[in-house]
Amino acid sequence: MTDEQKPQTTKSDQKPHPFDGHALMWLLWAFVVYYFFTDLNQTRPVQIPYSQFKQEVVLKKVESVTFKLDEIRGKYLGASETDPAEFRTIIPATPDPELLPLLEANNITVTALSAAEPKWLQLLIGIIPWLLIMAFFIYSSRLMQKRIGGGSGGLFGFSKSNARLFEAKESKISYDDVAGVEGAKQDLQEIIDFLKQPEKFRAIGAKMPRGILLMGPPGTGKTLLAKATASEAGVPFFSISGSEFIEMYVGVGASRVRDMFKEARQRAPALIFIDEIDSVGRVRGTGMGGGSDEREQTLNQVLAEMDGFSGDEAVVVLAATNRPDVLDPALLRPGRFDRKVMLELPQQSARRDILKVHVRKVPLAADVDLIEIARMTVGFSGADLANLVNEAALLAARESVSEVTRRHFNHAHDKVMMGSERKDLLNPAERKRTAVHESGHAILALRLPHTDPLRQVSIIPRGMALGTTEQLPEEDRHNYAQAYVESRLAVMLGGRCAEKLILGDVSSGAANDLEQATRLAKMMVTQWGMSDVVGPVHFRTGTEHPFLGYELTQERDFSEATAREIDEEVRRIIHQAEQLAIETLGKQQHELDLLVTELLEKETLDKSSIDQLLKTKS
Ligand code: ADP
Ligand code: MG
Ligand code: ZN
Repeated sequence: MTDEQKPQTTKSDQKPHPFDGHALMWLLWAFVVYYFFTDLNQTRPVQIPYSQFKQEVVLKKVESVTFKLDEIRGKYLGASETDPAEFRTIIPATPDPELLPLLEANNITVTALSAAEPKWLQLLIGIIPWLLIMAFFIYSSRLMQKRIGGGSGGLFGFSKSNARLFEAKESKISYDDVAGVEGAKQDLQEIIDFLKQPEKFRAIGAKMPRGILLMGPPGTGKTLLAKATASEAGVPFFSISGSEFIEMYVGVGASRVRDMFKEARQRAPALIFIDEIDSVGRVRGTGMGGGSDEREQTLNQVLAEMDGFSGDEAVVVLAATNRPDVLDPALLRPGRFDRKVMLELPQQSARRDILKVHVRKVPLAADVDLIEIARMTVGFSGADLANLVNEAALLAARESVSEVTRRHFNHAHDKVMMGSERKDLLNPAERKRTAVHESGHAILALRLPHTDPLRQVSIIPRGMALGTTEQLPEEDRHNYAQAYVESRLAVMLGGRCAEKLILGDVSSGAANDLEQATRLAKMMVTQWGMSDVVGPVHFRTGTEHPFLGYELTQERDFSEATAREIDEEVRRIIHQAEQLAIETLGKQQHELDLLVTELLEKETLDKSSIDQLLKTKS
């Protein structure tokens, strides 16, 4: 949300070559344009026929003339504002012996200019085409290099790595801006110490790891942490994203890697950061997804550069990925990225700390409780939390209030979790059905054991959904007990069951519930061993790694018979959950009716008002 991760960037090829083709091109253009315009701006003499010129001489209209080559320029005598002051005419090719005597007879000043251009102008005119040609060659050779990469600098040795260089002093990100990743910070502290005082480590012969791999889901602060590390260490920071290596032409990536490492070595101690390294560092030789040639060359170059470090070079390579599983094993072996730092999705206290970082510049009302917000943001990444704070601040700004309140955070949370409210109105029948459906989810969430507590029910359409029932886990869950999963399945199916129970039929509105329930049931059977029939086995179903080349070509690791068994078990588990849902709702039909009526009236109900309603009316 903030701009802090974008310090002033400079291209690392800072020294323009003295013979920079680009600059020369522009200079010449400027020349041409300048000449063109100065020429236009001069008041042009009128061109008159030779015979008229002679007549005007006789009529004593002419004051002076200048001869140059085949042209005569002249000034009129006593020209007025409207009349032209000057004229020019062309001398006929056949010599006119009368002309000079005629001019003399009329007392006209005659000047003659040498036919030749001044020496310097001649030189320039002669040289311009050559300069142009040269500039063109330099220019196009640069262009070629940029596209094709080409060996060590080509014709004139231009360096051109794409890495952005962040000067440490320019970057204001510090470890204070990265919260909730204490473990990772500690792991990196050693690197910071090393970069600050490489001599100290060298003196006792300690070798630093060359590569550190930051791993973790998207938005957990990998990029942020890398930048903070560089600025904590106060060293130059070369940052490039893996995808920037991949260009249309094979070989560019490799030459960029070479350039970047060269530059970093020159400026050591330095930190190189390769973001999203999975886009170059995938397992080689899968031949999937195209461009693998380019990828392999780039990856090979990275490996070669890392091997080329002599023991005491103070250059450390940080890399980040959210797909460590697809990385080539060669990247992970000792001597390369052998040190791994894991970043997890933040737990509750970490979420509170991250929120603290992001509300620093946001004026909060007294009723905002960051711990409460941390509790209701299970599964949010650091980036999600930053986004949440921003959404709340936006809401407050839109209302032109000076503080962000609890209500703004709640709204922002609903918006982030479930999409924006839609303004289109449901017709009464749809509205009733939605109220019944959501009440079904809600009553089951309240009445079944092992469920996550209910937070809020609403029949205001949001995003894709007509209504929403939201449950909030009390604490972060690290694994799921079978009883929890079964209750959760029943809650998912509860909406549809309530429709069946109260309205007598079902609708298409439950499609999403069914999809989720089926996926969950399938996980129970194939991954978690929660089916007695299939047994405690793990089956690959091919959905785990949708982006992974080799998964596509791999065969299903179970037989046709097992596939049928799995299908039957999935169906049985879902039927069982539906049974549980219908039974429970049947027992609680009174509560269900109450909730439906109240929802139709109030549209949105939170947990406490539901508790209130069910306590007083039953
Ligand atoms: P990643 O590279 O892991 O995908 P980023 O480092 O780009 O994630 O994080 C994106 C944004 O999310 C950061 O700019 C920051 O605003 C916020 N963020 C993520 N993790 C944290 C954290 N641990 N502390 C503070 N802010 C964070
Ligand atoms: Mg990133
Ligand atoms: Zn539903």
